[in-house]
Amino acid sequence: MQSLTVCEAPAPAADGTVPGSTGAARQRTLANPISCTGIGLHSGMKVRLSLLPAPAGHGIAFRRSDLPGAPVIPALYDRVVDTRLSTVLGDATDPAIRVATVEHVMAALSGNGIDNALLDIDGPEMPILDGSAAEFDFLICCAGRVEQDAPRRRIEILRPVRVEGEDGAFAELRPAKHGMLLAFSIDFAATAIGRQAHVMPLTEQRFRHEVANCRTFVERRDIEALKKMGLARGGSLENAIVVEEDRILNPGGLRRSGEFVRHKMMDAIGDLYLAGHRLQARFIGHKSGHCLNNRLLRAVLADSANWRLSASHTPASVLRVAA
Ligand SMILES: [Zn+2]
Repeated sequence: MQSLTVCEAPAPAADGTVPGSTGAARQRTLANPISCTGIGLHSGMKVRLSLLPAPAGHGIAFRRSDLPGAPVIPALYDRVVDTRLSTVLGDATDPAIRVATVEHVMAALSGNGIDNALLDIDGPEMPILDGSAAEFDFLICCAGRVEQDAPRRRIEILRPVRVEGEDGAFAELRPAKHGMLLAFSIDFAATAIGRQAHVMPLTEQRFRHEVANCRTFVERRDIEALKKMGLARGGSLENAIVVEEDRILNPGGLRRSGEFVRHKMMDAIGDLYLAGHRLQARFIGHKSGHCLNNRLLRAVLADSANWRLSASHTPASVLRVAA
């Protein structure tokens, strides 16, 4: 028998621990299919996306319904084929089989604790929608969720692993007693962005209220180069913050303070969900992006001494309604 979970969960303590944890949590999928249409940020192509329920043990996967045979690409870190400006999943043997800009919907799936779903897409890139994860979060809430008759697993990090990039950038995972705690910082020369930091345990409510509606951003001076590279064709002030030194060019300004670092944290939540399960870990990122996030997962998961699959526990106070 399946049961429905309500869209509320208790806030964890500052160290990310969840009070009142009891028995093993069960996997979740969507209660109903749900669809949307939109354009790809980089391709500019109009696409239709359907989020579909999937059986226990399925995980998250993308299906290119427009291609012959409707190939399925698992949402896994070792299927990442490009991280220049978005995270792109693909098939290394066939460059036509790819799905770009998966990080925002992956973040929304992680934030909502969806373990199993099939994402059917009729083009090469996810719709950018408003440039944040808020509309994916809304779709998942509208679809509803069901618990499944299988225990949920987490990837528990057993020892610190760190990868480093240029100009002091790094991404690191450390062991944690429960759940996931994220700390992210950025440092941009553009004074409209500057130095920002955000710390947050990954719970559904904190995800929804602190990072989900924070939009992607670009510096105006980079737009021309991106378009020459064939990227950002679908970009506009409707789906990205555009910055020029100390100015925000969007007429409405920012949605909240720290929107830039919060967006980068949301990206990291999505990228890290490509581990195949949610993590039990502390994540620390400084000027990290899709490339470093993926390098971190590859470094961690390459050595079985770094991690193990553990049972996930459900908070006692999460309400359940029998279906
Ligand atoms: Zn992003």
